[in-house]
Amino acid sequence: MNNKVLLLYTGGTIGMVQDGNGSLKPFPMEHIYDLVPELRKCPYQIDTCQLDNIIDSSNMTPSFWVDIAEIIERKYDEYDGFVILHGTDTMAYTASALSFMFKNLSKPIILTGSQLPMGVLRTDGRENIICALELASCREAFIPEVGLFFENHLYRGNRSTKVSAENFDAFCSFNFPSLAKAGINFSFKPHLFLPKGTEPLEVRKCFDRNIAVLKLFPGITPEVVNAILNAENLHGVIIETFGSGNAPTEKWFIDAMYNALKRGITVLNVTQCKAGSVVMCQYEASCEMNRIGIIGGNDITLEAAVTKMMYLLGSYPNNPEYVRKGLQLSMRGEMTVPC
Ligand code: ASP
Repeated sequence: MNNKVLLLYTGGTIGMVQDGNGSLKPFPMEHIYDLVPELRKCPYQIDTCQLDNIIDSSNMTPSFWVDIAEIIERKYDEYDGFVILHGTDTMAYTASALSFMFKNLSKPIILTGSQLPMGVLRTDGRENIICALELASCREAFIPEVGLFFENHLYRGNRSTKVSAENFDAFCSFNFPSLAKAGINFSFKPHLFLPKGTEPLEVRKCFDRNIAVLKLFPGITPEVVNAILNAENLHGVIIETFGSGNAPTEKWFIDAMYNALKRGITVLNVTQCKAGSVVMCQYEASCEMNRIGIIGGNDITLEAAVTKMMYLLGSYPNNPEYVRKGLQLSMRGEMTVPC
């Protein structure tokens, strides 16, 4: 029997065509064969569906992540793999969120998008869709994780980051190699894949949106830091620090962090650098943060850090110790934990 893939459109440039006046509008997914006739040659069955609300991915929220996850959960046994067409702007966030939501995954979920709309001559969307479908349907490779395919590379979803608003190679995974590369043939790196889930699939759908990202810069004032840390209902903060996780050592800054921690706010230290890792205590400038209980995020991306914190706080609202532990572990291959 042929493999079956479900193609889910959520919105974004990839699903757009120009109308008579030249403005971009979404096209109905069931007409995908008209736009990409090559898909008729695929030796697997492709079924299509779309979210009730097609969105520009700048409007993405956790409730859309839940909608996407529920569609996949409902159809999980029917299909061999899933492809999600998504706007590029927040695709790395959705890929990360889905990676945490699906525990014991045993089938591929591949997100892709494009820089140019499908209806445009030089579109990169055609290639991206065809490759993502190949990967999601491919029995030999069998990638049991949430991946993001863009411009010839399959990245682990929760390791990817959008890096260009211009180039076709718009995504990168700075701290983890790509899982596969498309050339004349696909070359896979199966030794990097996450282990296939052998237990029944579990899908967790609670996210806590009461978090903040505090990006440090030289000269940041106590007023700004305190305004963020004292936001109503705040449960977690990600501080984007300098280099290998360094921050001001001034007393007002450490006191502000200490008071937030004392109020039960979880604080995670993530570096502003695209590549490399937080190493708490490598410099004096991170020792105090370590001493007061700020967690080091190692080489996690901001996208994975945001979604992981929302996921852990939402799933275990009464278990701060578990949230703390989860943030220090690699749950779905999202960070490198030094031995
Ligand atoms: N603004 C669009 C989106 O993220 C851009 C894209 O699709 O690439 O939905």
